[in-house]
Amino acid sequence: MASHKLTVQPPKIMDRPYKPTIFCGPGPADMWPSVNEALNRQLICNMCDEFFNVIDDIRAGIQYLFQTKSKLVLAMSGSGHAGMEAVICNLVAPGETLLIAKRGMWDIRADIVARRYGIKTVLKEIPLTQTFSLDDLESTIKKVRPTALFITHGDSSNGTIQNIEGLGKICHKYGVLLLVDTVVSIAAEPFLMDEWEVDAVYSAAQKAVSGPAGIAPVAFSALAESKINNRKHEPPFYFDIKELALQWNCYGNTRKYHHTVSAPMLWALRCCLKEIANETLQKSWERHATVNKYFNKRLQELPVQFLVPKPEDRLSTVTTVALPKGYDYMEFIKYMREKHGILIFGGIGPTVGKTLRIGIMGVNSSFQTVDKVVDALANTLKVLKKSSL
Ligand code: PMP
Repeated sequence: MASHKLTVQPPKIMDRPYKPTIFCGPGPADMWPSVNEALNRQLICNMCDEFFNVIDDIRAGIQYLFQTKSKLVLAMSGSGHAGMEAVICNLVAPGETLLIAKRGMWDIRADIVARRYGIKTVLKEIPLTQTFSLDDLESTIKKVRPTALFITHGDSSNGTIQNIEGLGKICHKYGVLLLVDTVVSIAAEPFLMDEWEVDAVYSAAQKAVSGPAGIAPVAFSALAESKINNRKHEPPFYFDIKELALQWNCYGNTRKYHHTVSAPMLWALRCCLKEIANETLQKSWERHATVNKYFNKRLQELPVQFLVPKPEDRLSTVTTVALPKGYDYMEFIKYMREKHGILIFGGIGPTVGKTLRIGIMGVNSSFQTVDKVVDALANTLKVLKKSSL
């Protein structure tokens, strides 16, 4: 209304030209072409039949993705952090202890998140280019006797993959819950929630799932579910899995409003899960392993050093390599983007200034992408050599 004087004038919001770029960092990755179409579908209201059809499809897709028959499976509104936060705050009460297997950035983040909820944390640390032996973890569990153990499956900050098989059994021997981050590993690395006795797992849509950031699949085992149902503490309402389970119809016939879930995110995640189901997990795991093997072989043509010494510890989605002495990481990344249209990243947290992080995952996991990236790396190494000496 004209009588109300505005103190802030309308901004000039302009579309700027945006150079097409291949997303080959540690995430986000490029999206399936079908996801772009899915994002344009009509909106759905959170209380109509179509909403319940879509979330049922998504829950079935997530059960397949994590390989679980658990009922308590849904997607958090938010990025991977929403999954991390939900898993921690629903399962570990203030004053209880969370043991964190620390080898990279996401374990540091879990520590920060947990402490904000008044959870006591104990960190078991190893060098960031290595992975944990299950025997070592068992000795620490025996000593610390935590409520839960947090561990990262694929670590995008250092490019390692942690063996989880067998860890659930160890945790359960001591009455400990196993919480796993699979943000950058799911759909690319084998992961069997039920068989490996994982109690809570979260992921995100924008990595090997090849969707947009903003929706995070989570799943809880029967043991985790009973802890949630019998707990005395109240997690934040937005992250409360008990409430969300009713909205996501986890037990059937509970059409309860909790919050407005973004319809484009639902369509997009449903589409990603359909693509993964069509390809099948085994084929997707195989594709990532084969393409990564080829990438590692081609990287050996270049004067770069793998950050992770043992090939069996190297993650298939994110590869970490150090540049020869004298190169400037920021300049290198900028040149890759501006001259070659390829987005790669430098280190994060403990790996800042130590590595390039190159992600070849999801829809980008192909021999063609590897060739493009390696050729661009070779050219950038050559062009920037003079300025580095
Ligand atoms: N865990 C891992 C292994 C990740 O790679 C990331 C994102 N880079 C996260 C957690 C956090 O996810 P988000 O940025 O989607 O919140």
